[in-house]
Amino acid sequence: MSRYHSLVGVFDRLGSEYEQVVYGHDAASGLRTIIAVFSTALGPALGGTRMWPYTTEDAALVDVLRLGRAMAYKAAAAGLALGGGKAVIIGDPTTDKTPERLRAYGRVVEGLGGAYITTADVGTTVHDLDVIAETTSYVTGTSKASGDPSPTTAYGVYHGMLAVAERVFGQASLEGRHVVVTGVGKVGGALAKLLAGAGAHVTVADIRRDVADSVAADIGADVVEATEAAGVACDIFAPCALGPVVTDETLDRFKCRAIAGAANNQLATPAHGRALADLGIVYAPDYVINAGGLINVEDELHGYDPARARRKAEAIADTLREVFRIAADQQIPPADAADHLAETRIRAASR
Ligand code: NAD
Repeated sequence: MSRYHSLVGVFDRLGSEYEQVVYGHDAASGLRTIIAVFSTALGPALGGTRMWPYTTEDAALVDVLRLGRAMAYKAAAAGLALGGGKAVIIGDPTTDKTPERLRAYGRVVEGLGGAYITTADVGTTVHDLDVIAETTSYVTGTSKASGDPSPTTAYGVYHGMLAVAERVFGQASLEGRHVVVTGVGKVGGALAKLLAGAGAHVTVADIRRDVADSVAADIGADVVEATEAAGVACDIFAPCALGPVVTDETLDRFKCRAIAGAANNQLATPAHGRALADLGIVYAPDYVINAGGLINVEDELHGYDPARARRKAEAIADTLREVFRIAADQQIPPADAADHLAETRIRAASR
């Protein structure tokens, strides 16, 4: 199959519902980028720029289409006046990133006239956004604006967890509850601190044992090996690392009442969401509970006010209550209920 037909095949399979998919190329800087705008029905499509050494353009297109749709769902479920989109720059962020390439990328974003607004993602930093901002105004999360969203993400996860506790234990309190946080980086570390401050018994894990030990010493938490974390008996398991957490391998190991954490793409497949429900484990859909970062950058569009952004992140608890209500009414798993909520809002705005 030719390269052209292969790309068209990917697009037909995953991209036909997209409003706009743009390929950007700049010979002088070596830029190759794809920007995918899933929807602008609710507002401009805000989503991060991922820089990754994709081995083929097919792989980059598959990724950007998957991520762009997810951003639309995240924004809609959070009740934000935002559409959804994402961008990828093909290249190794450790060796291929140059100011010229980032500026060229900014010009492609600028050319979309505001349909897409960018921010940071895997492989791009607040500093990169500062460079991108030299050639486009459609950028959020620069050092002059809201900066690192992780503290707001952690704050939103914490409030979402209160709604989870209410659902599972009948009380929106984490005092005395045992929470296992796996992956204690920017978000997980801040979350562990909030939980300890709320009187929870916290256990932490990280593939970097030094990071786990340091967070534990700071807040008085227990530490377990990252490979053991999923099997620790606890009230709430909080995945804040990378990659799928609920898989065929882990399903039988969970000894928790609920799963609620910041990590993206926690379920290996939608069927794993159903399997959790069958096991009686309450799952807080990842893109609902981790929307604090998006809420933080969205606030910039109204003139950034950190206190207001945090208040909006607290409302993640209400969104989760709504998701649990839909799940109970329709007898579907919470992850499906979240999709239903998002799709209903996007469809209503499209009309
Ligand atoms: P980070 O890189 O700062 O932290 C991730 C931590 O997880 C690191 O300490 C790393 O050593 C550890 N880790 C990696 N693999 C692990 C494993 N298998 N087991 C245990 N620990 C492991 O990243 P972050 O910004 O804190 O983001 C954490 C997660 O939250 C990611 O999935 C990210 O996509 C998601 N997320 C982050 C934000 C945000 O605002 N930063 C917003 C929404 C979602």
